[in-house]
Amino acid sequence: MRTLVLNSGSSSVKFRLYDGDRVVDRGTVERIGEPGDAPKDHEAALAQIMAGLDLGGLAAVGHRVVHGGLRFAEPTLINDEVVAGIRGLVPLAPLHNPGNLAGIEVARRLLPDVPQVAVFDTAFHRTLPPEAATYAIDADVARRHNIYRFGFHGTSHAYVSRRTARLLGRDLADTNTITLHLGNGASACAVEGGRSVATSMGLSPLEGLVMGTRSGDLDPAIVFHLRRTAGMGVDEIDDLLNQHSGLVGLCGVNDMREVLARRADGDGAAALAFAVYCRRIRSYVGSYYALLGRLDAITFTAGVGENAAEVRAAALDGLERLGIAVDAGRNTSGSGERVVSPDGSPVAVCVVPTDEEGEIAEQTRGVVAARG
Ligand code: ADP
Repeated sequence: MRTLVLNSGSSSVKFRLYDGDRVVDRGTVERIGEPGDAPKDHEAALAQIMAGLDLGGLAAVGHRVVHGGLRFAEPTLINDEVVAGIRGLVPLAPLHNPGNLAGIEVARRLLPDVPQVAVFDTAFHRTLPPEAATYAIDADVARRHNIYRFGFHGTSHAYVSRRTARLLGRDLADTNTITLHLGNGASACAVEGGRSVATSMGLSPLEGLVMGTRSGDLDPAIVFHLRRTAGMGVDEIDDLLNQHSGLVGLCGVNDMREVLARRADGDGAAALAFAVYCRRIRSYVGSYYALLGRLDAITFTAGVGENAAEVRAAALDGLERLGIAVDAGRNTSGSGERVVSPDGSPVAVCVVPTDEEGEIAEQTRGVVAARG
């Protein structure tokens, strides 16, 4: 059974073709709509992708959708009504859902007989208890405008927390893990027995950890101050906090490899950016440890989490009294799924490469199989 996984962003489409759970083709089409010989729209991009693929025996298409709102708690077979539901969520995810929708609509047109499934970044976090999903603002305003913590990267947190329990030979239902997805975007999640009970991204992916270009947590009054005192418009502030903050705002580069290289060369701005980044991770680990009460594992994943030993070491340095330690030798060697804490540590520190596309493919196959 073949499954095509599509991740359609505003200007790019990433795809992977699976035969069973094996990847048989993959690629990315970028710069959609830009001048030059790039495809002029999503329709052209997907037509280009499909022309190059062997889609014989294609049983399903799985689409990554960023925002599923309050409604979508599960991977969902797509029909007109589901498309309308995803469109209704565009105001909550103006940077993400439109690209996802474009991919869905074009794929449905080009492959009308193949079932299509939406897999939502927010779905895993629908288990957040009310006290975790609720912002302490006027309750009527929140209700009227759908202001809740939704959380993102759910596909990754779900996959990585499951693999962590397996790696440790534990029952998922009896494992409490803090998962740290540190890519260009970054988020933390407290997973209690396989269920998300706290996560650092909120209404949008802007909240929480320091990211490549996003600020993460800040005093909301900064926004008023920029509006009133600096005279910036709302779109300008949105752009500042989403595109020109985080690592790039602090030291001019958003790629952690470059931050580490500059820091090693004695660049003060890069050293400060690294310190702010790691301190934020550490404070979420402390917070989620307290929320969980008992912690079995901390797992690092995504580009930074899987590769940057310095970040893992600095974020967790000196926490032995909490049962948390990183073994210097293990942390700087090895690859794939691994434990980097010393033997016998009360809390296992793990590295688990994420596989969001593989997880989307698996969930898509599940929906199609259940449909019979
Ligand atoms: P995305 O969120 O776009 O899926 P990734 O999970 O691939 O991103 O993470 C991308 C980031 O990972 C890069 O911007 C870079 O900062 C970081 N990264 C990748 N490789 C390394 C490495 N060897 N050392 C440190 N950071 C790395």
